[in-house]
Amino acid sequence: SKGEGRNTFHYFTQAMNRDVERRQSVEEQLRGALSRDELSLVFQPIVDLRNARVVGAEALLRWHNPTLGPVTPDEFIPIAEQTGLIDAMGQYVLERALEQAARWRIDRDPEFWVSVNVSPQQFRDPGLVGIVDRALSSRDLPGQALQVEVTESVLLDERGQAASTLAEFKARGIDVAMDDFGTGYASLSYLRHFPFDTLKIDRSFVGDITEDPKDAELVIASLSLARSLKLKVLAEGVETEAQLALLREHGCDLAQGYLFARPLPAADFDEFPERSLR
Ligand code: C2E
Ligand code: CA
Ligand code: CA
Ligand code: CA
Repeated sequence: SKGEGRNTFHYFTQAMNRDVERRQSVEEQLRGALSRDELSLVFQPIVDLRNARVVGAEALLRWHNPTLGPVTPDEFIPIAEQTGLIDAMGQYVLERALEQAARWRIDRDPEFWVSVNVSPQQFRDPGLVGIVDRALSSRDLPGQALQVEVTESVLLDERGQAASTLAEFKARGIDVAMDDFGTGYASLSYLRHFPFDTLKIDRSFVGDITEDPKDAELVIASLSLARSLKLKVLAEGVETEAQLALLREHGCDLAQGYLFARPLPAADFDEFPERSLR
């Protein structure tokens, strides 16, 4: 009936208004998050599948706001990107992550590295290479202490000189990784346009490799492609022993996921025990 239609519309606009209000308050709070020191990093161990050693860690942002509570990166990162706040936040991530890398290279392993997600927007900043150089040199770190993770969309962005910036990174020994491999429309063709060092296979594929034969085939094909292009492969989101076994069988180099550990505050990371692979 007409009444029902009106009601549905009423609830629809109510929900829309709630979304708009939420977006506004997240943006408002995010503007002061850095100066109020509400941001922090967690680190997820990255495991070398040849010897089961933790060789690196992905740095992931966390935000606790007194008004909003914890807000997930999937919600606040896009807003940070749209508002330009990502530049300052990205620099914070880089500096904090490298500070941690310097400690772990002394305490854990002299070759330990950290991986940092870099948004396409950050590549529009002509100062990005300088920011990275200063962050490395202020901790006396070589490029090998850092991996940068970019999604393929970075190469689509005409306003950023992503390819040349990534080449500058590589020249410094920084490992350049394609994140979320397989989720975009053109992952394969981007491998021709830029010589990545590492492919990070998206967790949406890894999650189903032991149930869905098509996903398994895709991952196995990616592994053999990567081998022929001399790229390392890291599997994200490894949650079960069965997934791990299949990945190792097909020559996957590195993995991260809840099977090994969730992203951890740096202090807990220090306690993280290395587990043995069967
Ligand atoms: P991502 O780069 O693909 O990061 C991996 C995400 O998978 C993380 O979510 C991590 O907590 C989650 N994860 C790891 N292992 C598993 C697993 O075994 N199972 C499942 N279900 N999930 C797992 P998180 O921390 O919520 O981050 C979400 C996204 O937010 C990231 O996806 C990345 O795109 C973005 N992000 C996070 N931190 C930063 C940052 O510092 N800078 C930028 N630009 N983006 C960031
Ligand atoms: Ca990532
Ligand atoms: Ca990913
Ligand atoms: Ca992602």
